[in-house]
Amino acid sequence: MFENLSDRLSGVFDRLTKQGALSDDDVKAALREVRVALLEADVSLPVARDFVAAVQEKATGQSVTRSVTPGQQVVKIVHDELVHILKGDTDPGVLKIDNPPAPILMVGLQGSGKTTTTAKLAKRLKDREGKRVLMASLDTNRPAAMEQLAILGAQIGVDTLPIVKGEDPVQIARRAKTQASLGGYDVYMLDTAGRLHIDEELIAQAAAVRDVANPRETLLVVDGLTGQDAVNVATEFDDKIGVTGVVLTRMDGDGRGGAALSMRAITGKPIRFVGLGEKMDAIETFEPERIAGRILGMGDIVALVEKAQETFEAEQAERMMKRFQKGLFNMNDLKGQLDQMLKMGGMEGIMGMLPGMGKMKAQMNESGFDDKILRQQIALIDSMTKKERANPQILQASRKKRIAAGAGMDVADLNKLLKMHRQMADMMKKVGKMGKKGMMRQLGG
Ligand code: GDP
Repeated sequence: MFENLSDRLSGVFDRLTKQGALSDDDVKAALREVRVALLEADVSLPVARDFVAAVQEKATGQSVTRSVTPGQQVVKIVHDELVHILKGDTDPGVLKIDNPPAPILMVGLQGSGKTTTTAKLAKRLKDREGKRVLMASLDTNRPAAMEQLAILGAQIGVDTLPIVKGEDPVQIARRAKTQASLGGYDVYMLDTAGRLHIDEELIAQAAAVRDVANPRETLLVVDGLTGQDAVNVATEFDDKIGVTGVVLTRMDGDGRGGAALSMRAITGKPIRFVGLGEKMDAIETFEPERIAGRILGMGDIVALVEKAQETFEAEQAERMMKRFQKGLFNMNDLKGQLDQMLKMGGMEGIMGMLPGMGKMKAQMNESGFDDKILRQQIALIDSMTKKERANPQILQASRKKRIAAGAGMDVADLNKLLKMHRQMADMMKKVGKMGKKGMMRQLGG
């Protein structure tokens, strides 16, 4: 699915091949194309506009991680933003079915795949959660639709409410409720009538059924191939009936995937499931990462950039180590270390990567060295001038007083920090002199 959009985007990103920081112009040029691509994929105009603005802000000036191209970097940013928009705050695959029998109302236009989806979900609840499910068709205008549900029910081993001629949808809903209670069902699903277009009668009927059943979930089934129309349908149903989630069907087709994005951005309703074919198992929980990856068709690139970012951090550590080997270790280096440690959530990580640090680490742990102390030490270094940081040996009493006061701490705290710095600097020098071989020995390698 989504081939159109992904082809378009890969064309755009191929053009961005320079290394370095992403310039304003690079990003603008790429995003103009992204916008066109989104519109062609049937993403609505305001959604495309907001999307592009958000990406623009995130991408401009962002430094390009070494070993990936700017284009690849933009793909990652676009991907992350897609995921951000597509993600709801509820777990999409978990249906609220406590307090049995829990009613689930299925709504949507005729031909959207509503009956098929009802049966798919019933089967899923039965197979995965061991639930007893009862399905009822309320489509009194189309006897064939009622038959269809009964046939699917028999096929998947899920009970359907017996068809009684002459009842209206509300009467059927009441009977389903009673039957579900008496029969000890966990869930009953009401497959409402569909029309080709939304009309007042359809809405009134669905609303009346809703009021009788008081559903735990009202799932709107929409055809994912209908793009912008699907969004309009969703908006209308949600305004009039109130839906708790959307199921996008026919996502197995090669249609324009923009519906997923617009649907989420405009209605704010979470997409819960996607239909991926006609078979009863062809339904999956909606996964924003997966859909975003498919929209872009570039899942590998996202993984690559993530990997490169990790490598970049390792490269930084190596650069630092080179400095240490030369016996260079000032307060800026120390601050870099402390920041890094904080970022990694404590004492693990980079300390462990540096030669000879194991012992120091143990000592620090013994003296109750934790994140709070890390933060205090960083504050002390921040309170120093540039010159002081580069040459901590110039710190005498008056400077020390000023620095400690600036960080809201005592001179004794600063002295401890300075002592730690001296110890570390000494060790760096020693380790550095040993050269690579000595370092390996030190590491026990
Ligand atoms: P309803 O009128 O909304 O109840 O629609 P149906 O459930 O009868 O589905 C209409 C047609 O769409 C049937 O032929 C289904 O097999 C087909 N269909 C439903 N969901 C999907 C899907 O996710 N993918 C594909 N390819 N076909 C589907």
